[in-house]
Amino acid sequence: MELKDLNLEKLIKNNREITNLGNVADYIPELSKANKEDLGICILDNNGNIYCAGEYQTKFTVQSISKVVALMLAILDNGEEYVFARVGMEPSGDPFNSIRKLETSSRGKPYNPMINAGAIAVSSMIKGDDVKDKFRRLLDFFKEISEDQTLEINSKVYLSESETGNKNRSMGYYLKDEGIIKGNVEEALEIYFKQCSIEVTAITIAKLGLFIANEGRNSLGEEIISPRISRIVKTLMVTCGMYDSSGEFAVRVGLPSKSGVGGGIVSVVPNKLGIGIYSPSLDSKGNPVAGISLLEDICNELKCRIF
Ligand code: GLN
Repeated sequence: MELKDLNLEKLIKNNREITNLGNVADYIPELSKANKEDLGICILDNNGNIYCAGEYQTKFTVQSISKVVALMLAILDNGEEYVFARVGMEPSGDPFNSIRKLETSSRGKPYNPMINAGAIAVSSMIKGDDVKDKFRRLLDFFKEISEDQTLEINSKVYLSESETGNKNRSMGYYLKDEGIIKGNVEEALEIYFKQCSIEVTAITIAKLGLFIANEGRNSLGEEIISPRISRIVKTLMVTCGMYDSSGEFAVRVGLPSKSGVGGGIVSVVPNKLGIGIYSPSLDSKGNPVAGISLLEDICNELKCRIF
């Protein structure tokens, strides 16, 4: 089926009851305020067409999807060799916030940039004059690649992430002790908590997806990141983007994707589409339960799986 013939309203309707199978994130009060039944989607193609349905205009925090953005900038800033000397490329098989493999992996190196430990290490590599400048560069880069100049952080979410993020904080200090984090740990954590708290909609996420689909070129065809960096990011999205569900997700959906506990999923149909999902009801692994099912339906209809 062609994208223009896809009945997104119907697919949203069919998948809405699946939201009952999960729960909204509640590790901070702000996230628990999300509406569990919400389900929204936005699909962008290279002809400038935009197809949206459901709660695609609802704002939510980007959370772990920001790990993809930070990784691209950290590689641009430091080069691939530097980044992957300090963070691995392998799935951990553990939950996103797990700490346990840090001690058994080689030199305390986090398994990959899509789990919290790896992402905190990556955030510590963003360059800038001071912590304010580093985060500003990350936010500006996100604005540039998503072509959304309105992006800002949700301060309430940021403050509660920072106040309650003890496990993330302990991973940060562990990484400092191992020499993976070079600078100030609190600064690395500040960048990480702030990047997670950036507010987006399914439209922003779809734009990010289209940027990655187009191998790091913006809508004018200008190269912002090299095809090599975009390939690294896409590949890590396939192997690690849905945490310890990445294998099952690859079988069901078959697209490079990254989820966040705010309910977002970015999915990439290489050279063709960017897909943004908002689905705050999460399964036990912290992935949007109805959003995954919706993506599976879309891939069945469009036959757009990459494997
Ligand atoms: N801010 C969240 C955390 O660090 C992000 C996690 C996620 O989206 N999986 O726990």
